[in-house]
Amino acid sequence: MQKHDPIPEFAQVSPSATIATATHGWRAKCLQRLVRLDLPVPKSVALPATTVRAIAAGHGVDCAGILDHFGDGPLISVRPSPANPDWGGPATILNIGLNAKRHARLAETHGETAADALYLRFIQAYAIHVARLDPDEFDGLKPGPGAVREALHQYEIETDEPFPEDPAVQLSEVLRSMARAWEGTSARLLRQAKGAPDEAALGLVVQEMAQGIGVGISGSGVIQFVDPVTGQRQITGRYLGQSQGRDALRTTEALYLTRDPRGPSLEEVAPDIFATLVDHGTICRARLREEMQIEFTVEDGRLAVLDAVKVQRSARANLRIAVALAEDGVIPREEAVMRVEPRALSELLHHQVDPRGPRDVFARGIAASPGAATGKLVFSSSAAQASASRGEACILVRRETSPEDIRGMHSAAAVLTERGGMTSHAAVIARGLGLPCVVGASELRLDARDKKLTALDGRTFREGDTVTLDGSKGEALAGVAEMLPPALDDSFRRLLSWADELRDIGIRANADTPADAETARKFEAQGIGLCRTEHMFFDEDRLIVMREMIFADTPQDRAAALARLLPMQRDDFVQLFEIMQGLPVCIRLFDPPLHEFLPQSREGLRELAEALDRPLSEVVRRAEALTEVNPMLGMRGVRLGVVLPEIYDMQVQAIFEATLESARRGAPVVPEIMIPLVSARREVELVKTRIDAVAAMVRTKAGATFDFKLGVMVETPRAALRAGEIAQHAAFLSFGTNDLTQMTYGLSRDDAGRFMNTYVRQGVFPEDPFHILDVEGVGELLHIGAERGRRTRPDLTLSICGEHGGNPESIDFCRKAGFDYVSCSPYRVPMARLAAAHLAVEERRRTI
Ligand code: PEP
Ligand code: MG
Repeated sequence: MQKHDPIPEFAQVSPSATIATATHGWRAKCLQRLVRLDLPVPKSVALPATTVRAIAAGHGVDCAGILDHFGDGPLISVRPSPANPDWGGPATILNIGLNAKRHARLAETHGETAADALYLRFIQAYAIHVARLDPDEFDGLKPGPGAVREALHQYEIETDEPFPEDPAVQLSEVLRSMARAWEGTSARLLRQAKGAPDEAALGLVVQEMAQGIGVGISGSGVIQFVDPVTGQRQITGRYLGQSQGRDALRTTEALYLTRDPRGPSLEEVAPDIFATLVDHGTICRARLREEMQIEFTVEDGRLAVLDAVKVQRSARANLRIAVALAEDGVIPREEAVMRVEPRALSELLHHQVDPRGPRDVFARGIAASPGAATGKLVFSSSAAQASASRGEACILVRRETSPEDIRGMHSAAAVLTERGGMTSHAAVIARGLGLPCVVGASELRLDARDKKLTALDGRTFREGDTVTLDGSKGEALAGVAEMLPPALDDSFRRLLSWADELRDIGIRANADTPADAETARKFEAQGIGLCRTEHMFFDEDRLIVMREMIFADTPQDRAAALARLLPMQRDDFVQLFEIMQGLPVCIRLFDPPLHEFLPQSREGLRELAEALDRPLSEVVRRAEALTEVNPMLGMRGVRLGVVLPEIYDMQVQAIFEATLESARRGAPVVPEIMIPLVSARREVELVKTRIDAVAAMVRTKAGATFDFKLGVMVETPRAALRAGEIAQHAAFLSFGTNDLTQMTYGLSRDDAGRFMNTYVRQGVFPEDPFHILDVEGVGELLHIGAERGRRTRPDLTLSICGEHGGNPESIDFCRKAGFDYVSCSPYRVPMARLAAAHLAVEERRRTI
């Protein structure tokens, strides 16, 4: 066995010490960086995770040795240092080393009151966090004459031992309690909810106290240089005279940092210190390549930097910060792209309550996660899940959330909690999910048993009542509020344009209407990958003509109805081509079974009989005749195209005439025509022959020419298997993974919801295959189809256009399989663009 040097128990945080995030945690590493930047960091010692684990297992550590690093009679703090700051950790303990003797010395240097306050604070923290005594017995003690004596007495009563005087004993107990707290079940669950791995370990940092208490200018605070919600550059933070730790954040008496009309500021009270802090911030940003929040103290005018942590931020701020850092040359553009999680983009795309509309606010809390949503109130996670399965948006209300609520939160449109703060479970998880969230709405009275909320003004809201939650403002509004669509700012566009330079697969959008196409354009999709034309027939005025066409007795009657639909379709396509100018548009010919266009109710059938001027009995009989046992496997897609070819004739005529019209308007387009639900080459041949004939007819009539591409939608397993021969007649194959998943599994896309949860829970399927592409089964068909198709036609364009298209997992699959593009719903386009860039960069980094 190779012999390793023994791991030292602890290391002084010096510029050259061997300290790494993986072994000593983020805080220790960050402090070392600050030391290297020559910032005034108090002397610190880092305990690696191995040492902390050993302590938790009952081993001792050389506390006297640690204390020796700090000179004579030091006061020190111990702070947690896990590998990732988001994983939390046990509470920091300040002022270790205080005892009767040290208290007396402190009284001489800092005054009796300050010494008393610090000693009391230490006894309280030690009693509660280290000796684990009842907080109620200690929290109530207010600094003042006799409070220290009372606290010491209380400690002795509760533990039957005097309060430890020996600093080494104090330190050893603090280390032990923090090490053990990390191993506890609740701490484990909490950090796992934040994404920590099972084996996540804790390092600890012992640091010399830089008191924020003294005779001259003294205090403590935090400063950061960006707004954590918007990411705009702006100094924010708090400073409180004669305070320590994070006191400044807990009181309204704290000073502002910059000049502020609302009250005194550090900038005015101590301009030199303020200027130095700003310098430190600039150095941190440039050298640590991040926006940092700096925790500092001032003792008798001496500034100390205790810590710097990456500014906690919203997804919007994270993006803006990454872009700003890249634009200032602090990080490369690629790094900026990699710093933004593709899934986090959804938060930026969220709706906001329109500030110009009426706001009926019934509760206020902390704006914990931005965006706004309207939904029906539910009071439990199971009710949220039930609501989601009914397709109803809901707002989940809880006193506070715990890891058991995660599934409920996934199902909710927004989350409201009575308790909690910016870093509470609900807030952290909601931000991760991009869900609007308001926490700490403490003026609300929540009656979870009666499923009732009572507002301060006496109004009550019950389960099922509709409310709007504004996670950006921290308000709950009664009823439906007017919403603004998401704002896509410059940083957003710039980051995605950098992503576009890095990615190597195309991203198109599925867009059926001009409105969808506008959205696709706004999100910079590279074209339309799927336009489901049948959606164009559901407008009131078209539906009736469509029905006439369905009920036509003769080909002439059918032709007459189609002739009325033709100009409407042509207009649709002219609009689409105009919006998508210069980009490809792939139009799928009519796909659904015809009966979907008929009324379902008797009343509807009667109205139809009237409109068609036919007897009701006949309409009912014809409607029944169209009914199929398995409509999804029946007369739909290309089968309709073969049996009733006039429909496709009309559609392609409309496409070609629109193509000519677009060319006349100066926006030439090469339309892509896609045949759905193909399973045999002959189907494609039949449809192709007619399409070519229509094209010839339109060209002759117009005396002008145009190009188009014909392709096939591969959504039956047979089409994938026979892709080799199908590709003889197709310039492109687009895999419709919705139907292909349905048919590969023999699993109805409309009914799978009934048992999917059970199936996933019992591990039959790792995920719902309609959400996450089944790369093993459906994926194999994609591979076969792609490979056979390309063997026939090496320049065959390949894509997927099912719901899976926008998922990072599917994009990964498609890149590896050599597909040309994926097509997804317009709102997923930004995520897909970024995910594709991440995948390309990750692959390149792996191969370097
Ligand atoms: C598909 O089946 O994957 C597809 C995109 O078509 P639709 O969802 O319209 O059936
Ligand atoms: Mg389909």
